[in-house]
This record gives sequence, structure tokens and C-alpha cells, in this order.
Amino acid sequence: MTIVYLIILVAYLAINGFLASNASDVANDKGYEKAKWFHMCFWLGPIAYVIIAAMPDLSIRNSLDEMLNILKSGNSSEGTSSSTAQASSSIVGKSSYTPPIDPNKPKKVCPQCGARNNRENTKCFACGEPLD
Ligand SMILES: [Zn+2]
Repeated sequence: MTIVYLIILVAYLAINGFLASNASDVANDKGYEKAKWFHMCFWLGPIAYVIIAAMPDLSIRNSLDEMLNILKSGNSSEGTSSSTAQASSSIVGKSSYTPPIDPNKPKKVCPQCGARNNRENTKCFACGEPLD
């Protein structure tokens, strides 16, 4: 009879290891340490799977931070440069991007970049400048 228990134990460990391996792959994709989360999943089981599912994706967060930094540095260089640079950026803003506006409603023109915003907008959709 003990051989049956042994087979069940081996099967249990194999399945647990397989699940822990898959779950730690997910943790790794999210930017966490794979080896650490393999052990967490192996020993904690379903609790660790729930934690991995709930964890924020660090790789997406990092790329968002990078994008924010690029946008911030772009805005600050624009602010210090001359008015011709601002004028050219407003032309680029008008030509390269079609705004999601309703043509039947009156528009608010942004004082910062000249983009046409919906009347109910409180901030410019293009540059984020508050509209009064
Ligand atoms: Zn604007």
C-alpha cells in the first residue's frame, strides 16, 4: 500500500512543481525574481498564485515612468526655448493629430498650443493647459 502513497506524493510534487514553474514565469514577466517566486508558489500554493495575479506589472510601470520622464523633459525644454519653437510645436500639434472633437459643438481654443477643444473640456487634450 505504501507504494500507492509514494506515487501520489511524487505526482503531487510534480504537478505542484509544474504549476509553481508556470506561476513564477508570470512573476518573472511582471519584473519579479523568478527563483524566489518559484519557491513561494511551491510552498504556499494557491496563496502565492493569488499574490502574483494581484501584483502590479513592474515592467509596464518602468516603461510608463520612462515615458513620463521623456514627456517631462520634452515639456521643460519647450518652455525654456523661444516663441518660434512654441509656434512650430502648435503647427505640428494641429497637423499631425486629429483631435477627438464633436464638430457640432462650439470649441475652446487652447491659449497655450492653439488646439481646438470641446466646450466642456477643463483641460487641453493636446498639452494639458487648463482652459477657462
Ligand atoms: Zn493646448
